[in-house]
Amino acid sequence: MNEDPRRAIPRTDSLLALPAVVDARTRLSGAAVRERIRAVQDRARRGELAPADVAATLAADLAATAPSTQTPVLNATGVIVHTNLGRAPLGAAAAAAVADAAGYVDVEMDLRTGLRSRRGRGARAALLAACPQAQDALLVNNGAAALVLATTALAAGREVIVSRGELIEIGAGFRLTDLIESTGARLREVGTTNRTHLRDYVDAIGPDTGCLLKVHPSNFRVSGFAADVAVGDLAAAAREHGVPLIADLGSGLLAPDPLLPDEPDATTALRAGADVVTASGDKLLGGPQAGVVLGRSDIVERLARHPLARAVRIDKLALAALEATVAGPPSPVTGYLHADADRLRARAEALATAVGGVVVAHDGRVGGGGAPGVPLPGYAVRLPEAVALPLRTGSPAVLARVHDGAALIDLRCVPEADDPRLIDAVRAALARG
Ligand SMILES: *Cc1c(COP(=O)(O)O)cnc(C)c1O
Repeated sequence: MNEDPRRAIPRTDSLLALPAVVDARTRLSGAAVRERIRAVQDRARRGELAPADVAATLAADLAATAPSTQTPVLNATGVIVHTNLGRAPLGAAAAAAVADAAGYVDVEMDLRTGLRSRRGRGARAALLAACPQAQDALLVNNGAAALVLATTALAAGREVIVSRGELIEIGAGFRLTDLIESTGARLREVGTTNRTHLRDYVDAIGPDTGCLLKVHPSNFRVSGFAADVAVGDLAAAAREHGVPLIADLGSGLLAPDPLLPDEPDATTALRAGADVVTASGDKLLGGPQAGVVLGRSDIVERLARHPLARAVRIDKLALAALEATVAGPPSPVTGYLHADADRLRARAEALATAVGGVVVAHDGRVGGGGAPGVPLPGYAVRLPEAVALPLRTGSPAVLARVHDGAALIDLRCVPEADDPRLIDAVRAALARG
């Protein structure tokens, strides 16, 4: 009598004892490992896999399974702050700081006294050193939280005066108007879409005014017959009437960058008289997701003591990464922003030679709502559009820019050390595509 070949399929307990499976259990839960075992056994039961190959297939499958399903991506789009790819990539120092902070850390303790201390002292000190114009700093979960906390603490139940030209949608359907109104503050819109004058703000100031708000319109630009009011002029009016002025920078430069003359920065806004600025940690600051509040110590203190501050508290990993980003060498975002065009061209030519593509001029972008009109001159390797899918689903995953019927590989945001991996990935994708 012929034995059922399915009886030769290795049993779960023998598979669990394989060294590859024991090793995988340091990275994956018992349930996840059993699920993999069951899946491979099922393939053998269906006849898709020989019983003799079950152990090796399982080992290969588990070896390829990372503890997180978030797949690292080589960003070949030329867009530096790419929201769908997690915005700013952390530098080596920030990544190391995150690893160090993964265990127990003194995030809220003074180890000398053994007493509780203010959360995130190091990150605060690093920010104040990088932006001495600020009297104090507070870190929260993200830029939107910083803005919500500021408007809540300063204007809940009262009015936030803001220009109609600055009521923006910051992406994925999130509107600043909705965000601010969710805090219980009332929006007092002044001016028009294209022109707002100082007297529009001044006429609106009254006993119900909680604060003035100046928002950087980030991802859009009004040109032509347009006027807005500079922070300095608004600050003078705010001071005269005894109301605070918030400047929402959006992106997060701490000091001016000559490459981005129209991008606001914290130092300039505070020097011009803003009482507090709010900014985003993972846009041009180049750090982790975080919200940054910088400015007058009495106002920062008021925000820190507000009950909402607890609901938007920043996590210890982000604090570690932010401190390391601000106090450390230039972040990858800064490096990619200032990438040398000649070097980009040489790298693109090497890639084109290796894989057989054409080098074309290609502008990179800041992304993430930053400096929308500013092109960053560089180069890309032009490949057939059909290669984009195998590139995305290959290993490593590579995201090209699909444009005009082509897949464009821009090396601006690819660490140069990864060029050999990128070349291999493109070759593999061309072979598959
Ligand atoms: C991006 C942005 C925000 C929100 O910052 P997040 O860190 O994304 O929460 C707020 N205001 C402006 C002007 C922005 O551009």
